[in-house]
Amino acid sequence: MPHVDTDVKLDFRDVLLRPKRSTLRSRSEVELLRSFTFRNSRQTYRGIPILAANMDTVGTFEMARALCKFSLFTAIHKHYGLEEWKAFAAQNPDCLQHVAASSGTGPSDFEQLEQILEAVPQVRYICLDVANGYSEHFVQFLRDVRKRFPDHTIMVRPALPPPLIPSCIMVHSELPSLQAGNVVTGEMVEELLLSGADIIKVGIGPGSVCTTRKKTGVGYPQLSAVLECADAAHGLNGHIISDGGCSCPGDVAKAFGAGADFVMLGGMLAGHAEAGGELAEREGKRYKLFYGMSSEVAMRKYAGGVAEYRASEGRAVEVPFRGPVEVTVRDILGGLRSTCAYVGAPRLKELSRRTTFIRVTPLGPPLFGPGD
Ligand code: 5GP
Repeated sequence: MPHVDTDVKLDFRDVLLRPKRSTLRSRSEVELLRSFTFRNSRQTYRGIPILAANMDTVGTFEMARALCKFSLFTAIHKHYGLEEWKAFAAQNPDCLQHVAASSGTGPSDFEQLEQILEAVPQVRYICLDVANGYSEHFVQFLRDVRKRFPDHTIMVRPALPPPLIPSCIMVHSELPSLQAGNVVTGEMVEELLLSGADIIKVGIGPGSVCTTRKKTGVGYPQLSAVLECADAAHGLNGHIISDGGCSCPGDVAKAFGAGADFVMLGGMLAGHAEAGGELAEREGKRYKLFYGMSSEVAMRKYAGGVAEYRASEGRAVEVPFRGPVEVTVRDILGGLRSTCAYVGAPRLKELSRRTTFIRVTPLGPPLFGPGD
């Protein structure tokens, strides 16, 4: 008989952070910069660990230029060519410590990644995403990349569809049973970390332009995924990225509170001047196109259409043009500093230790993300 897990799993909207006694006099005292040393690359990181998603509408060079001024990170999307990378590197040497080069797992992806990292050796981060595939293929690919780039920090997002994403998430979701002796899924995260990954991206279907939950019925509420994954990964000296589902600065704070080392944003950074996507004007209002990387729009653009064997798992929306991203970044960082002040965390590093979530249902007025 199919198993039903009756434990309640939570999303960002299901909780609030409880305020705590604080000795902080002002939110300006809060330190958001964090330092990490990654388990395999042994590389050290220092920055504010919020990153732009490697979507072609968000992970642009223009975005990287704007975000690196705040010590934020950008996972550059994989559709830039070598010449574009060279030009960016020549013009923005100071930004290179805050960007990752992205790659899929195909042979041409590997070649392109090699070319970029050889031409721009200052780029020390690799973001690996799997569109489809099986765990053995992915793990082998990861091993190959690790072998070729022994000192680069590798972030991985295990594959969609099954078995990879569910197995990764289940690693975490089954942590209690893992402690009770069920190591089947724990082995998967262990395998990814032991095969060379430094940072694991966590998120099945929470994205603002993701339709995976609707198309496949597969998913995992993001707050619980982060809570469980952070615990599992930290036990192995790994790090995690909470990827998807943040629609306001409070969600970013909740992700950090739940134990995320990094928080990745798509929709919250979409629609800005630095974002990709065509600008449209109607009735005096400006809009920018924002779409999922598995949407029909993206597949038409890069793969000549949606392959017969699969459905698109993303959608396209027009978001109101929002001007320079700097304003939004200040809003996010200001919110995060206030969260830390409310719970008495002088540094972002201490936020998860100071976090008590209160379950709330429902949470006041609805929070709207792009396209909702
Ligand atoms: P957001 O911050 O917009 O809620 O989520 C961004 C994340 O959504 C990305 O980092 C990526 O993991 C995920 N994503 C982007 N495009 C797609 C898509 O077409 N399908 C799915 N399933 N996820 C997507």
